[in-house]
Amino acid sequence: MRALARAARSEAPAHAYLITGPAHIGKRTLARELAAALNCQAAPEERPCHACASCRMTLREAHPDFTVVERTEERRLRVEDVRDARGSVDWRPYQGRFKIYLFPEADDWGNVDASSSALLKTIEEPPPQVVIVLTATSVETMPITIVSRCRSVPLQPVAPPVLSMRLQELYGAPPETARRLAALSNGRPGWAIDALTTPDLVARREEEISQVVALSEGPLGARLLLTGDVCRGGSFLESRALCLRVLDDMAAWWRDLLIVSSATVDVPDTSGVLTHADRRDELARQAARRGRAKIARGLREIEVTAGAVERNVTPRLALEALVLRLN
Ligand SMILES: [Zn+2]
Repeated sequence: MRALARAARSEAPAHAYLITGPAHIGKRTLARELAAALNCQAAPEERPCHACASCRMTLREAHPDFTVVERTEERRLRVEDVRDARGSVDWRPYQGRFKIYLFPEADDWGNVDASSSALLKTIEEPPPQVVIVLTATSVETMPITIVSRCRSVPLQPVAPPVLSMRLQELYGAPPETARRLAALSNGRPGWAIDALTTPDLVARREEEISQVVALSEGPLGARLLLTGDVCRGGSFLESRALCLRVLDDMAAWWRDLLIVSSATVDVPDTSGVLTHADRRDELARQAARRGRAKIARGLREIEVTAGAVERNVTPRLALEALVLRLN
């Protein structure tokens, strides 16, 4: 993160950046910050200042030198967008020092669209003053020809206490809100930052967690039906990403169960380390029913399943097998 900021302050940043990480970790937020830093009007050590006209426009994705090329619903690049982007790269920046092109969700890019090959050429030899930024869930889903030409910026989940502190320091969140959002976010700063201004996200997240709890508890038939719902995506990649998120959430829930079941007389209050501190009663009930050994075994099963899904096992089948084993 700091290396990226440093690059942005220098007069010669990399020609292309590839920001990778799980959904909602903050890839697009970081891309905007990078673009803002590149064209910020403040002194180099203050970039991005978030206050100058250039920063404010960039962060709203409304700066004339910051072009976002979205993919359509069918995950294609729009031909006219590509043509516009190709046509305009050779022009000088309108206002800023650099022209920045952001391609969000560039996973499996080169494979789906012929028009993207034209863009490849731009990434190979971008004109000076052009910076290309791609975001993707992982390097593995990208054509090697692209990866090899980009400076790689992998984003990792952030520990909830660290995230909570940052939300207070950088975004002025009240401590209780910051703690709660950090816990709910599963280490994804992008989600937590969005949730500060979009309360709907919190409600939707609560719903997701209820689903995860329902996958672990209740009648087997209902749980098997639910496995189909939670990882239904348009494409294999999409349903795999959904399934991995559900497994992440399940692991977080079962880790909490393990903590609650391990609480001793010496450490009776575990709420500070629980992800789902607000569901403490429910956790205690489930933990008491299963017992510590069974919970530890279940958590291991969840981790093994996540590994299998990452290695391309069919998401729904893997999740079904897991639900059967968690019985
Ligand atoms: Zn600025």
